Amino acid sequence: MKTPSSQHGNKFSSFFCNLFGHHYTVSKKVTQHIKEYKCIHCQKQVTTDVSGKLSALTPQMQEINSTLEDMYRKRRSRVVHQVA
Ligand SMILES: [Zn+2]
Repeated sequence: MKTPSSQHGNKFSSFFCNLFGHHYTVSKKVTQHIKEYKCIHCQKQVTTDVSGKLSALTPQMQEINSTLEDMYRKRRSRVVHQVA
């Protein structure tokens, strides 16, 4: 009966998430409808995709999000600073 104690911490976090579900908090607001979230227990990161569902925050998704964020900011600032 040998149990490797080194794995215990990580296993407990994912076990906790499996049992109670991830506890996501907003880590970044991309646009009004798209946000990035992070689980406070296991640090898993997800994002709202185009269909409004949560999907894993891959480097590809991160890139899409930063493009969207850029477009969103520019569009908003153009509306705000419509002086010229
Ligand atoms: Zn989690």
